[in-house]
Amino acid sequence: MLVVMKFGGSVLRGTEDFKRASFIIEKTFSEGKKVVVVASALKGVTDKLITLSNHALKRNSNLKNKLIQELETQHTEITERGLTKKEIREEINNKLKTLINDLQKVASGIYFLGELTPRSKDYLMSFGERMSTLLLHGFLKEKGLKTKLFTGWEAGIITDSNFGEANPLINLTKYNVKRNLQPLLEKGEIPVVAGFIAATQEGEITTLGRGGSDFTATLLGCSLEADEIWLWTDVNGLMTADPAIVPSAKTIREISFLEATEMAVLGAKKMHPKALEPALKANIPVRIKNAFKPEEPGTLILKKRKIRRGEIVKAVTLIRNVGLINVKGPGMIGKPGTAAKIFNSLGRNKINILMISQSVSELNISMVIPEKDFEKALSTLQLNFLGEGLIQDVAGDKNICVVAVVGEGMKGTPGVAARVFKAVAQKGINVIMIAQGSSELNISFVIEEKMGEKAVKALHEEFSLGKIQ
Ligand code: ASP
Ligand code: MG
Repeated sequence: MLVVMKFGGSVLRGTEDFKRASFIIEKTFSEGKKVVVVASALKGVTDKLITLSNHALKRNSNLKNKLIQELETQHTEITERGLTKKEIREEINNKLKTLINDLQKVASGIYFLGELTPRSKDYLMSFGERMSTLLLHGFLKEKGLKTKLFTGWEAGIITDSNFGEANPLINLTKYNVKRNLQPLLEKGEIPVVAGFIAATQEGEITTLGRGGSDFTATLLGCSLEADEIWLWTDVNGLMTADPAIVPSAKTIREISFLEATEMAVLGAKKMHPKALEPALKANIPVRIKNAFKPEEPGTLILKKRKIRRGEIVKAVTLIRNVGLINVKGPGMIGKPGTAAKIFNSLGRNKINILMISQSVSELNISMVIPEKDFEKALSTLQLNFLGEGLIQDVAGDKNICVVAVVGEGMKGTPGVAARVFKAVAQKGINVIMIAQGSSELNISFVIEEKMGEKAVKALHEEFSLGKIQ
């Protein structure tokens, strides 16, 4: 059995975490499984690298150097405390030093040029995973395991040049990964691969987008035809609701890829939304597991799952930090291309739309936008359309949130929407906007922000999600 396992930044913070991760790896390996390891950067390190790039750009030499020093200390503390074999510790420390020196050079480059391109930012961000995997590699060596270290591109992940959110060239990647890693696995070695980072065919370093280590794991998994992909994190798995809102929320034992993707997009776990795609295509089960409680079963994500009787809704999520924009005007009625014009103008300004609804009267179109883009979206629409006769009014409301009810059991089950909105109405909550995709996997609706938690609680209760997991 071949398992690709990824350790997220939330479970890679200090020495104890590295001991724990290497223990988990050793245990799985000793059970006779072949193991490929993927790691994220240490918790918070990618953010620090981004801050570093800004210090360098703003020519803040002191802050730049201080941060590099901090990163060096953060990593060497782990090797100093955790690696007891002198030879291994020195080897890892030397390599770490080389990486830090390179990082210094890249930061200086940005500093002197006064220019930070997406390409140089990716290069800079790549150091997080290069350092964390180096440490993990050292910890596995300490245990006497045979392991080899790879960056994403050395493992074979090749992407286009869309820096910051690069897209893997799948066929090439599959071919490369198989060629590079398979022989090692045959020999009983454990490849340790840096998550998140890859390169173009020309060898320029790219990143797969924030949270991209999950994506690395599924890409390797599908390339190697792994039996399972395990994502180690600091929670027991996906949950029926945010336990901070609903104390009786339960860990979901089994969920389909489609449901999990809906939840990932909705931000239930900070999972990379694209990450599940390769696993879904290759039909490889993905397990989310808690590194602090490895005995917990976690959440198993499957292509097809059995839907138990009465199990309609899987989870309720609350999406905050969004705003609602409403455009209206009689000029929109019967005018083909209106929606296209509106969405085009937002798209050109790189504004992402989370939810859309238009009534059949065509008198208005409502959309939900991430709060960070809200002002920009409003002014874009006002600038482009007001005074043209097409749209009379553009209004916005930031005081809202979205509640989403997710579950494959909703498909073709009549009366689900009725139950959802009755439960919400009984709490005196007014629904402002509604959307259900034709996949019938998700009903989302907009309500006043301060009612969000109340609605989530009511729906969790209505569908007995605290009981049936
Ligand atoms: N280190 C990267 C990030 O923080 C990738 C990851 O954690 O998966 O976004
Ligand atoms: Mg992460």
